[in-house]
Amino acid sequence: MRRYGICGILAAVLAAATSTTVAAREPSGPSPLAGTIATESYQELEAQASRGAIALWALGAIEEHGPHLPLMTDVVVPSGQLRIAATTLKARGVPNLIVPPYYWGVNNVTGAFAGSISIRPEVMTELMLDVFRSMAKAGIKRIYCVTGHFDAAHAGTIAAAVKRANDEKIIEARFVVPAPLGKRLGLVSGQSGALFAEWPAPPAGEPDLHAGEMETSAMLDLAPELVKQDIAKGLPPTGLTPEQLAGWRKGGDTARSITPSGYLGRPADAAAAKGRARLALEAGAYADAIGVDLKAGKGASED
Ligand SMILES: [Zn+2]
Repeated sequence: MRRYGICGILAAVLAAATSTTVAAREPSGPSPLAGTIATESYQELEAQASRGAIALWALGAIEEHGPHLPLMTDVVVPSGQLRIAATTLKARGVPNLIVPPYYWGVNNVTGAFAGSISIRPEVMTELMLDVFRSMAKAGIKRIYCVTGHFDAAHAGTIAAAVKRANDEKIIEARFVVPAPLGKRLGLVSGQSGALFAEWPAPPAGEPDLHAGEMETSAMLDLAPELVKQDIAKGLPPTGLTPEQLAGWRKGGDTARSITPSGYLGRPADAAAAKGRARLALEAGAYADAIGVDLKAGKGASED
């Protein structure tokens, strides 16, 4: 009897521990897989491929984004852009599907911070090529990649993987990239799978490139529960000079010394409405670039 009594107590303790664990693991915020093929069956994927659906793929990173934004910011934002672009393209008669977002990106600029997980470019390239092969196996003919993370080492890796996918005829791949970033990478729109999108200009004034007004506004629209607004409101503008910006782009300890709090710009000026308006323009530019590419009807790999 005594043994059963102990078992009963143990069971009660275990039950309590289990319920505590379950409560602590309750997910918060939007599922990063929402709206992607990960929520569908393989038969639904096959059916979409047979209807000629194009694939859309966001490639982000787990990266520090100041004291007020989560490490997954560069995954949440491009996923939101693609959901809007997907709806626009469907309304224009372009069947499409969204591949689950990639988040093990290359971090160079903010690599000196905790939370900036750095993957070697060659590892990311091989992984991208395997995903391309898998999408081709599913019957997808063309895939459009976008980046949520503007680190040149990361975006350059996407460009290289897209070029290889075309050169090796794995799948028709495109890197739809905001024109200023594409030019900074030395890409030419229409060549090697690169496709420039005409994004709206950034807010006037000092650079607002990382976890500043633009990114914080986007997050306030897409996932406000993940934004520490009280902290964001108290962050002063960084006011970097062009020379400091150039130094920041060198990355590592130099970048950390220039932006010790891990943001660059004016997070205190962020607002959800600004984020929503800008996201619509960015997603619209992606949809327009994809539409033009589809109309052109020829692969950049043929250039
Ligand atoms: Zn970011």
